[in-house]
Amino acid sequence: MDCIFCKIVKKEIPSKVVYEDEKVVAFHDINPQAPYHILVIPKKHLSTLLDLTEEDKDLIGHIYLVINKLAKDLGFAERGYRVVVNCKEEAGQTVFHLHFHLLAGRTMGWPPG
Ligand code: AMP
Ligand code: ZN
Repeated sequence: MDCIFCKIVKKEIPSKVVYEDEKVVAFHDINPQAPYHILVIPKKHLSTLLDLTEEDKDLIGHIYLVINKLAKDLGFAERGYRVVVNCKEEAGQTVFHLHFHLLAGRTMGWPPG
């Protein structure tokens, strides 16, 4: 399968990894939208959030715990951060391998664009 994030998981293309374990990889977004912009992805290929099944419940909980760990380790847990998942075209999804954007380091606007 020709999936850019699967290639990042397999280290076939480079990325700036900040965290990795048996289930997930977290790396810096190539086009950051905030001082901190990290993508947290499951190693398992899921195209969109809609592709989650019952068997992925633990995985999603794990991803949020990793996000909290990164927020603490990188030092923005106190100030706050935003987690975004764009699901399908109208939400702005461009890479069809599930990913959680972790954004921090500046005041965020609301509503999002
Ligand atoms: P989305 O628009 O929600 O699908 O987000 C895809 C994100 O992946 C964008 O923020 C891109 O900047 C980012 N991205 C695309 N290719 C790479 C890459 N090779 N390494 C790191 N981030 C990437
Ligand atoms: Zn993939």
